Amino acid sequence: MRILVTGGAGFIGSHYVRTLLEGGYPGYEFARVTVLDALTYAGNRSNLPASHPRLEFVHGDICDLPLLLDLLPGHDAVVHFAAESHVDRSVASSAPFFRTNVVGTQTLLDACLATDVQRFVHVSTDEVYGSIEQGSWTEEWPLLPNSPYAASKAGSDLVARSYWRTHGLDISITRCSNNYGPYQHPEKLIPLFTTNLLRGLPVPLYGDGRNIREWLHVDDHCRAIQLVLAGGRAGEVYNVGGGNEQTNVDITQRLLRLCGADPSLVRRAADRKGHDLRYSLDESKIRDELGYAPRIGFEEGLAATVAWYRDNGTWWQAGRTAESPAGRAA
Ligand code: NAD
Repeated sequence: MRILVTGGAGFIGSHYVRTLLEGGYPGYEFARVTVLDALTYAGNRSNLPASHPRLEFVHGDICDLPLLLDLLPGHDAVVHFAAESHVDRSVASSAPFFRTNVVGTQTLLDACLATDVQRFVHVSTDEVYGSIEQGSWTEEWPLLPNSPYAASKAGSDLVARSYWRTHGLDISITRCSNNYGPYQHPEKLIPLFTTNLLRGLPVPLYGDGRNIREWLHVDDHCRAIQLVLAGGRAGEVYNVGGGNEQTNVDITQRLLRLCGADPSLVRRAADRKGHDLRYSLDESKIRDELGYAPRIGFEEGLAATVAWYRDNGTWWQAGRTAESPAGRAA
């Protein structure tokens, strides 16, 4: 089994690859992995083992068709994480989002078609559904993305679906809620707040802080992706949720406690343009079909995450050189 992982030097992709190489996915203990990553500001080669007998790292762009045509033959599957992923950056400048997320996905799928690599897991997000005041989205909900990031991901989902329907590629799509855990770039909400609070620096809370997100540990997300890779059906979408709904105020209070920081460090900031109020996924399909269930409780996972940032200052201090335009996230 040989798997090409795009974006494998980023937050979620690197967690997936490390777990795979450590033998964390039954049946895939001998899988060989090729990571293709452009090492943008969000990618970090040191998120992966420096060397491993089953890992090959390729520094390259998913929009580079000749590179893909060269690289893909011999692979059994693609797990596609590579994306521009930060909403605030997409509000400031959306062109890189449509280039990588839409054109990059289409280029990758064309290369799969040309090289007969059939199995493809497209990693997407709950943000494609928009915002929901009550209840939860099933996979049948219409796509109503509100930010340029979400629109570019929705576009990539539709490109992926079309390559299944038109060309018969064996494509499954996952849509997950907000992730947290170690190795997340310090521009995103939990690492930004944690690394600021640990240093006694202020944290910027958007608007009234009542926006609700469902938080899932990255390890649970990656296990769900693996279940979809191994058993997901072609042409199907799988929501991945089951995390914990929290307002941004709740998250901030938890982080203040875990970091032992003073509440006066919280500064109200002007709200993000078009800020979605609430995301919530109905994930019964992946539970019923593939036996998915999250394993890491939010309290336990958040405490371990804060401890990781406390212990790994050299990792995140390097990442802070390229902070987001607005310097905060969700
Ligand atoms: P990330 O920003 O941490 O990592 C993205 C990776 O993709 C980086 O290593 C970057 O170098 C690479 N990359 C960017 N452009 C590239 C290109 N043109 N060619 C090759 N590599 C490129 O993102 P993440 O948080 O790990 O998210 C991974 C995937 O999961 C994304 O598709 C995202 O939409 C999705 N997702 C993320 C979350 C979340 O909470 N972070 C939730 C649901 C879904």
